[in-house]
Amino acid sequence: MINILMFGPPGSGKGTQSVTLAEKYNLLHLSTGDMLRAELAAGTPLGKKMEAIMAAGELVPDDVVIAMIAGKIDATTGKAGFIFDGFPRTVEQAEELQKMLEGRGMKIDLMLVLEVNDTELMDRMKKRALVSGRADDADENIINNRIAVYRAKTEPVIVFGRKAGVSRSVDGVGTIDDIFGRLCKEIETVI
Ligand code: AMP
Repeated sequence: MINILMFGPPGSGKGTQSVTLAEKYNLLHLSTGDMLRAELAAGTPLGKKMEAIMAAGELVPDDVVIAMIAGKIDATTGKAGFIFDGFPRTVEQAEELQKMLEGRGMKIDLMLVLEVNDTELMDRMKKRALVSGRADDADENIINNRIAVYRAKTEPVIVFGRKAGVSRSVDGVGTIDDIFGRLCKEIETVI
């Protein structure tokens, strides 16, 4: 099994790239953002509880996303591994994921860090807002808050990845195909 963390700020292309990488390498794509939005759309009690946090661009509690991920890992068969998109977003989540995988005879094999500057991120999210319908893409202040939350709470996970010897920095600016090629090159060093 191969486990890849797709890492980077909001708007860096994690979701777009994860979908095609998952297809190419037969990995299960696990996006906590997509899972949470599905809860919201279905109007579940959990979704209702998380709605305001997500709309403000803050992080939902660690235990909520950890439980979601644990459920998926245990229920999955027939895949070559997992690609985690938007998770872990705190050092606590990273430590829990590592424990969860180790307890099942697996590990984090690779952490791909997409590097994109803030001006480009803002541009991309504003464009995405026109088609995604996401409340957290539509407002410049919320986008800025999501970037600030990333720098404060999520970026420290890169140090975790470096210590584990799995983090690789990838230029996230260019065409979708070019960036895909750069990511594949890194993945092929570990498979
Ligand atoms: P995303 O689609 O990954 O940008 O996530 C959208 C929103 O869902 C985030 O701004 C958070 O409010 C929430 N979220 C998604 N993944 C996580 C996570 N791993 N930890 C905490 N909150 C998350």
